[in-house]
Amino acid sequence: MKILSGKTALITGASRGIGEAIAQVFAQAGADVVFTYRSSAEKAVVLEKKLQDYGVKAMAIQADASDYSETEKVVAAALDFLGKIDVLVNNAGITRDNLLLRMNETDWDAVMDNNLKSVFNYTKNVIKPMMKQRNGSIINISSIIGLRGQAGQANYAASKAGIIGFSKSVAQELGSRNIRCNVIAPGFIATDMTGELSEEVQQNYLNTIPLKRFGTGEDVAQVALFFASDAAVYVSGQVLGVDGGLS
Ligand code: NAP
Repeated sequence: MKILSGKTALITGASRGIGEAIAQVFAQAGADVVFTYRSSAEKAVVLEKKLQDYGVKAMAIQADASDYSETEKVVAAALDFLGKIDVLVNNAGITRDNLLLRMNETDWDAVMDNNLKSVFNYTKNVIKPMMKQRNGSIINISSIIGLRGQAGQANYAASKAGIIGFSKSVAQELGSRNIRCNVIAPGFIATDMTGELSEEVQQNYLNTIPLKRFGTGEDVAQVALFFASDAAVYVSGQVLGVDGGLS
């Protein structure tokens, strides 16, 4: 029996990067999966097929995680398709890096809406069905930057720190309904997001990572798998770094 057999998951922002890896690892572990994306339609179709080839139900939905009404519709469609939502992974996120002196309001708002409001949107919409079924695991993807800050990423750091406070509150509010809420704080993971950084910045990061390599989406996905599974039934309100020893 696979570790997520009989379970269902809704994963946001899974057309690429860490979200894609989580979707694949969950499907390989036997979970039926609904995942969202914002604009990478072709990649989403390819992933949907790949997940179905693992022998599970899978559906991609195009939706903007920062738009509350769209997230309501996604959760309704996911419930219709899956029958229930056991696991929610809030993974969708963006960067709009700039030094604070040059950061404008648009960049601040975009990051807060896509990274933090999105987590509120989906969590708010899944908790009622999770309360009814008296079971649920919510996994929020923060960042090491949310723990320690980073010059040029004040908006991103604030959004990712906000996720931690939000998640600890959700864990306290909903623990009595058997809903767990945990946070993963990845370090430097090789994806399109970090590919935008200069060679020099990447090399500087590499020098400081004790395990001497960048992480992979799969490295993060394996930790998400633990939080999603019954192996973590007594784990809630935690923040786990997946950062090669950096923190
Ligand atoms: P990525 O490669 O840029 O992929 C981002 C994914 O999120 C894409 O599937 C994108 O969809 C989706 N997305 C973005 N905004 C969305 C929105 N408003 N609605 C729906 N989907 C949206 O990023 P990544 O590196 O995999 O990062 C995934 C998460 O991990 C993010 O929350 C990020 O902050 C966090 N993280 C990453 C690192 C790292 O080193 N990479 C480290 C710490 C934390 P489209 O393809 O359609 O645009």
